[in-house]
Amino acid sequence: MKTIGDFTIESIRNDFPILNQKINGKNLVYFDNAATTQKPTAVINSISDYYNNYNANIHRGIHTLAEKATAEYELTRTCIKDFLNAESNEQIIFTRGVTESINLVARSYGATFLKPNDEVIISTMEHHSNIVPWQMICEEKGAILRIIPINDKGEIIMSEFQNLLSNKTKIVSIVHVSNALGTINPIEEIIEKAHKVGAVVLIDGAQSVSHLEIDVQALDADFFVFSGHKLFCPTGIGVLYGKKEILEKMPPYQGGGEMIKDVSFEKTTYNELPYKFEAGTPNIADTIALRKGIEYLLRIGRKNTAAYENELLLYCTQKLSEYKEITFIGTAEKKVSVCSFIMQGIHPQDIGMILDSEGIAIRTGHHCTQPLMQRFNIPGTARASFAFYNTFEEIDKLYEGIKKVIRMTS
Ligand code: PLP
Repeated sequence: MKTIGDFTIESIRNDFPILNQKINGKNLVYFDNAATTQKPTAVINSISDYYNNYNANIHRGIHTLAEKATAEYELTRTCIKDFLNAESNEQIIFTRGVTESINLVARSYGATFLKPNDEVIISTMEHHSNIVPWQMICEEKGAILRIIPINDKGEIIMSEFQNLLSNKTKIVSIVHVSNALGTINPIEEIIEKAHKVGAVVLIDGAQSVSHLEIDVQALDADFFVFSGHKLFCPTGIGVLYGKKEILEKMPPYQGGGEMIKDVSFEKTTYNELPYKFEAGTPNIADTIALRKGIEYLLRIGRKNTAAYENELLLYCTQKLSEYKEITFIGTAEKKVSVCSFIMQGIHPQDIGMILDSEGIAIRTGHHCTQPLMQRFNIPGTARASFAFYNTFEEIDKLYEGIKKVIRMTS
């Protein structure tokens, strides 16, 4: 029996009730983990526990339920601080996810500090959520968006990045791990180079937090953002980490309750960090559940899960490369468990539909990275992405499923 850390794969799979079901008469094979991950019972139960037992609004109540809800909510902040190795809880801001975190930085930091002809650098492999907010703010401020090219393997060309850097560069915003290719970017080097020209760096950790250990202090990242739902936790909750001195300089992103110290019709003063950026009643239940999901992952151990996921990736790559019809998109030296491919003469959507008839869930299309697809001159890919609850037998089913795809489309 295969084990991951101290746990058998069977016991791990039992922690994810959704996996135990049939789709189109076949056992579900869930290979769409880069889009969203499944949730363990610890996370699911935490949400019903909150609503069954201590639902109350936080921070202002003095009654027992409000105090319990507040304590649980703030415990998650401490958990995230430790998870990212941040210095203090004030640096952890809860948002709806990566998209909102990046918009917050663009609208607050970008709108305040960008001047006409300043430059913002992103890469060719960014998710739309790390492109569009920068396009919007650059247009508004007269700043220029620069794009780092990638090579045919799907790796950032570092010499080109170096060439783009100048004293005009004010913000560099880069994905840590590409959702469409699996590439792990050399963010340590990117951060160091960007700092040399005085730019701040935002790292999109949407795909990295579930696979790699993150130490924001060692990285020296100015901002690091992630979404709970890619990390075996609920949707609708995410995090913005920022360096304290930078967050302090930034104006609030939204106005309302919670983010204020004092309000009068003449003047409002703002709350301290992190509450300055958390206007309104937050997503309390899912914030608490975020901690439960992270604790669950850490019990198994990210080194253990990452090593196993890597074995799955190698096995899948080796099996699928037996098909001459398959071309892999994203063959970087350093990758996480994302296997993106195209098949000669077969539309990715057809691959997805035929595999679904076999109970196999993969993602097809542009993966919210249209400029990246344009770079490879393709409309989209078929993408199988693995988590630690997946198995080698499931990859064998994918292999057989591809046989059916070839049969049915030839
Ligand atoms: N960045 C990357 C690399 C992603 O994979 C995703 C989601 O697919 C996002 C950003 C956006 O995350 P969310 O939709 O949770 O805000």
